[in-house]
Amino acid sequence: AKERGKNNYHFYDSALDQITSRKMELENGLRRALELDELRIFYQPKVQMDTGDILGVEALLRWEHPILGLISPAEFIPIAEETGLIIPIGKWVLRNAIEQSIYWENTGIGTIPVAVNISVRQIKDEDFVVDVKEILEATSFVPSCLELEITESIMQDFNRSTHVLKQLKQLGLNISMDDFGTGYSSLNNLRHLPINSIKIDKSFVDDIINFNGSIVRAIIDMAENMDFNIIAEGVETKEQVKFLLDNSCFTGQGYYFSKPLPAGDLEKYIIQCSSI
Ligand code: C2E
Ligand code: CA
Ligand code: CA
Ligand code: CA
Repeated sequence: AKERGKNNYHFYDSALDQITSRKMELENGLRRALELDELRIFYQPKVQMDTGDILGVEALLRWEHPILGLISPAEFIPIAEETGLIIPIGKWVLRNAIEQSIYWENTGIGTIPVAVNISVRQIKDEDFVVDVKEILEATSFVPSCLELEITESIMQDFNRSTHVLKQLKQLGLNISMDDFGTGYSSLNNLRHLPINSIKIDKSFVDDIINFNGSIVRAIIDMAENMDFNIIAEGVETKEQVKFLLDNSCFTGQGYYFSKPLPAGDLEKYIIQCSSI
């Protein structure tokens, strides 16, 4: 038994080593990913579910690592947050997503508002508001076509976050609460945040498939009462679409409509949708 225990220990040790070295590899690589032009933005449509109209897109970051291949933001965003690299990376995403939307406007593809994910680490950065303002000015982008997606973790520092969000809203952009229902929000705090819309977290939308839409229904009711727009995330089936429409949630995002796509593929999707 002693012998086995020892082997287990060695196995565990080397598995842990592997995880640690991948993390170190990513950490070092991420520092150079920006200058080496390895970051990509994919776009996922937000769809008006009763008409099929595309209301906008969400920008979702990818890292095309030269050796490890396409790396998910779920893996490298936490590293970017820990190291502070999320600040320059976040600026890059904002700038590029805006420039993409301007390109779609100028080439006649359409007016496609764009939503960008913002880490709480960015909200805490004292230059954030000025950075956003400068990017909007430098690009002459229509601020109402920009949405920032934040999460409930901003509630940890409610007063300061509220102050920052108010300044952002004064720039004329929109703010949405992402992953709603998974975090720290008390309804009372939520009511006092300057946000435009709420995104129902995928986990609740998943429940619809198991015939349990009660939380989704409660969130929709609450959003209506508080005058927030509402959008469902992670919509994958026709049944979910029907349930959401039956309960007055008209906007959705998910694989049922489209996965996140490179800009060029999204253009094809838009053109195909508008020709039906
Ligand atoms: P999120 O903001 O909640 O984005 C939704 C995630 O769900 C995306 O994963 C999207 O690809 C995925 N998704 C969308 N529809 C479906 C569906 O129908 N089924 C399933 N199974 N998944 C669906 P992704 O692209 O891997 O991004 C993961 C997370 O990484 C995002 O979650 C967001 O929190 C973060 N992230 C992505 N890009 C950025 C960024 O530029 N900045 C920051 N700070 N975070 C980012
Ligand atoms: Ca999001
Ligand atoms: Ca989300
Ligand atoms: Ca999420």
